[in-house]
Formats: sequence, C-alpha cells, structure tokens
Amino acid sequence: MLTSNPITHSSTNTSHSAHSGPDTHARDAREKIAVIGSGFGGLAAAIRLQAAGHQVTVFEKRDKPGGRAYVYQDQGFTFDAGPTVITAPECLEELFTLCGRKMSDYVDLIPVFPFYRLFWEDGYVFDYCNDMEETLAQIQKKSPADADGYRRFLEYSREVFDEGYTKLAHVPFLDWRSMVKVSPQLAKLGAWRSVYKTVSRFVKDEHLRQAFSFHSLLVGGNPYATSSIYTLIHYLERNWGVWFARGGTGALVQALVKLFCELGGELRLNAELDGIISEGRRIHGLKLKNGEFFSCPTIVSNADVMHTYRDLLRHVPLVQPTTKRLEKMSYSMSLFLIYFGTNRRYPDLAHHNVIFGPRYKPLLDDIFSHGKLPDDFSLYLHAPTVSDPALAPDGCEAFYVLAPVAHMGKLDIDWDKEGPVYADKILRYLEERYLPHLREHIVTQRIFTPQDFKTELNAHHGSAFSLEPVLTQSAYFRIHNRDQHLPGLYFVGAGTHPGAGVPGVVNSAKATAGLVLEALKK
Ligand SMILES: Cc1cc2nc3c(=O)[nH]c(=O)nc-3n(C[C@H](O)[C@H](O)[C@H](O)COP(=O)(O)OP(=O)(O)OC[C@H]3O[C@@H](n4cnc5c(N)ncnc54)[C@H](O)[C@@H]3O)c2cc1C
Repeated sequence: MLTSNPITHSSTNTSHSAHSGPDTHARDAREKIAVIGSGFGGLAAAIRLQAAGHQVTVFEKRDKPGGRAYVYQDQGFTFDAGPTVITAPECLEELFTLCGRKMSDYVDLIPVFPFYRLFWEDGYVFDYCNDMEETLAQIQKKSPADADGYRRFLEYSREVFDEGYTKLAHVPFLDWRSMVKVSPQLAKLGAWRSVYKTVSRFVKDEHLRQAFSFHSLLVGGNPYATSSIYTLIHYLERNWGVWFARGGTGALVQALVKLFCELGGELRLNAELDGIISEGRRIHGLKLKNGEFFSCPTIVSNADVMHTYRDLLRHVPLVQPTTKRLEKMSYSMSLFLIYFGTNRRYPDLAHHNVIFGPRYKPLLDDIFSHGKLPDDFSLYLHAPTVSDPALAPDGCEAFYVLAPVAHMGKLDIDWDKEGPVYADKILRYLEERYLPHLREHIVTQRIFTPQDFKTELNAHHGSAFSLEPVLTQSAYFRIHNRDQHLPGLYFVGAGTHPGAGVPGVVNSAKATAGLVLEALKK
C-alpha cells in the first residue's frame, strides 16, 4: 500500500514499499534482486526488473533517494543538488509506459525557454534555444559566415545521434565483436576527433565554438578530449527539447520511487552496504554496514564503479584485475557547488545560465590536465525559480552555481578549509558582474565540494561524473554492464555504458535490465 508520505521509518534504516505488484503467475518465477544505490540509473533498473515480475530491493546509503539528484530544503527554498537540465524525456516516459502508466500522472514536465543563456565577460550574450529561426538570426548577427556552418553542424549532430543514441545507447557492449561491429560508423563520423575540433570544422567564431562545444562538460567530458560522438547532445536537445520537472528534479525522482513502490518494490534508505558476499563465481548476497545480511543471487550496482570493485568486493580475488584497471583509468572532473537563496529576484537571468570566464582551453587544461585550482572560472548558474517560483518563498530566488574543478586525484587540497574561501570568491565574481549586491541578499547558503562527492556519494577521487567519457573509455572499453567473472553482478549508472547524464544512466538501465532478464530466463 502506498501512503501519501511514501517513506516510513524504522530504527536502523528507512523502508518504502507498496504492494499492487505482479500477478501470481509472475510471482512464481520471482527472483530476489538487490540494487545498490538509488540514482536515476538504479531506480530505472529497479523499475524495469520489478515490472518484469521480480522482487527488487533498492539499498541507498543516504536518507533520501536520487543520488546526485538529491534535494536540499532550507528555509522555504528547494535546491536540486545535481541534474537540472532534463533532456530525452522519452526514455523516462518509457519506464512508465512499460508499467502501463503515464508519466504525466506522476510528474509535470515543463519546457524551458531559452535552453540556456550564455554570457561572456566581454558582454556578449547568446540565447541558445529550440527556435531554429531565432538561433540562426543570432548566429547571423554574430558571425554571418557561420549560419550555414551551423546548419551543417546540426545535420552532423543528427547523424551522430542516429548512430550513437538511437541505435547504441541502450545496447550493452560485452565483447570485442560488438565494438568491431560499430567501428565503421565511428570511423565515418570521425569519432577520434574531439567535440571542440568537430564544432570548429563547421563554425569559425570563437564564442559560437564555445557555445556549441561546452555540452560535453554536462557529462563530465573536456570538449578538447571527448569524442565527437558527444555532439549528439546538441541534436538530442533540439529533437526533444529541454525540460524541467515542476517542483524540481526531486519531483521526478519521487515519481520514479512512487512507480517502483506501486509495483511492489522496496526502497531502503539509510542502508549503506559494506560488502558483496560471494563464493567462487556465485553471489550469495549483501552485507550492510549495520551487520545485516541480505541473501540474493543477483545484484545490480548503481554505486560508483571503483567503490564497488575496490571496497564492496575487496575480499574477491577474481575481480582484482578490474580494480587495478580502474586505478589506471581517467576520471571526469569534480564540481564545486554553492546552493543559495536570495530575498530578491534577478530578472535578467534565464533558468539555465552558462557564464564563460576569460579563458576557455587554458582553464579546461588546468582542470583536466594540470590539476590546478585556477583564479578564474567558468560557471553554470541554475535559477529554477524562473520556471517554477514555488521553489522559493514569495519574491525570493533559489540558485545553485557550479564551477568545474579538478578531481581529488589531481588536486588534493583541504576542501573544508578552501571551500568557504572559494565560495566567497565565486559569489563576489557573480556580484561584480551579474547579480548586483548579491551577498547582502543571500539568506541561506550551503556548499558541496569534491570531498563531499567522495564521502557522501563514495565517488572515486570525488569525481562528479565517474569515468571520463573519452573514446578509449567508452562502450566496450567502459566498465561492462555485467561483470565478466561474477555472472550475478551487474552495473548501472554513470560508470558503465553509455555513461553519465540522466538519459545516459536511464539507457544504461535498459541495457543492464535486458541482460539480467535474459540470464534469469535461462
Ligand atoms: C551537480 C551536477 C549537475 C548535473 N547536471 C545534469 C543535468 O543537468 N542533466 C543531466 O542529464 N545530467 C546532469 N548531471 C549528471 C547526472 O546527474 C548523473 O550522471 C546521474 O544522475 C548519475 O546517476 P547514477 O545512476 O549514476 O547514480 P548516482 O546519482 O551517482 O547515485 C548512486 C547512488 O549510490 C549510492 N551509494 C553509493 N555507495 C553506496 C553503498 N555502499 N551503499 C548504498 N548506496 C550507495 C549513493 O549514495 C547514490 O545515491 C549532473 C551531475 C552533477 C553532479
């Protein structure tokens, strides 16, 4: 039974479940499945497996579901902690459709216009939007020669989208053959080129090059190193639009939790796992930090891939080569975030604002290669009250600002000490250039640092997006959706194929659930 407050408390952890589940016939073939972590990937996999008639329990270490899509509620302000740009709503809708439901009965998605407002220090502003005429008019005004180049870029991005998203995002790459099969398409699309280099082939103006290449940062990729395959994000946004869940991304998480529990699934909060118990190639179950043992032969890990191998499987010699491989792989950057509420509104902002600093490539080099904390920054400023004023008290505005920073494997500083200083520097910068008198209007503020990614989310090096999305760590070269040594162990989420971002991890759930269901049929 689903209660209006879907979460009920118990002494050791918090459990949330409902029973209007599968029919008796399906129940006979039920397998007990555990999902570690309640990020978008974990929840999407749990829904697919529960909908297929199995008994799924999701274990989440934190007190709320959502993973990176956590929610803070401070003094009447609602702050989404992570994802805010909701794209490809069809992959979310599919989760409801396969359960015979409609997403709109659970959550209201509202279109965002413009998609992003982009600001540069020289005063140039570009509204990147879904209206082709409007986009072309802005390009024409800035750099007339680039209007035609942009059309060709969009066409290229569509081709990449058809190959990379429509055909491959939900397909697991478990063996070499699967990689060899797609190689001709990758070669044809010039997948070895970087996003920035690809954009530069079509567009000559430097502001516009930045405007059409920053997207890979949204999934943790340096535009100068990430494969041109990631230009598909451009077409993906154009094709399906940019959306925001009324009430915040947290409302979308709650919608998925509600659906999962209606199917009979169980979500256990404050339930941190200590280890995966196995013998030989067989999985026996899970051990929680509180000492409890949960018996189940099939486990889907949505937790950080390195945390899963290095910590949860620390006693399993079979997987040590994978742990060693993970140590050598490269990780995406981290982020420094400030969530703050003001007692006034700032009307010049759009919902999503990207603020480019004075340097583009050199700044990215500092973050991705040199591991320096630079004096300048490029920022993403989230102003959701533009779309949904209910996220702040009347006349007030809820924000978060994020600065990409090097992960802790490259930049090991004491964030407890450095964090407040860095926060003040960012707020001062915003105040001087974009939000007048900001600091005197802030009524609530909290920060989240790379150290928090490490301790709160068990993220290796405090990386915000798991493994870096470079070609040599994509598809077959990423952590596979099923472990090769322990057949009952699967992965879902940012560290596995296809990678980070809400559409990425929701598609990884489709790939992974497909493998689980296939194995359970045998
Ligand atoms: C600040 C920020 C902004 C972003 N913005 C966007 C955006 O606008 N649009 C977009 O599409 N993407 C965005 N992303 C990326 C996107 O949010 C992530 O790629 C995606 O949400 C990750 O989902 P996941 O399934 O990998 O799980 P995660 O969200 O990483 O969740 C994993 C869960 O596992 C839990 N866990 C870990 N260890 C254990 C354990 N031992 N026991 C139990 N539980 C455990 C963690 O607590 C966590 O809840 C953003 C990311 C960040 C950080």
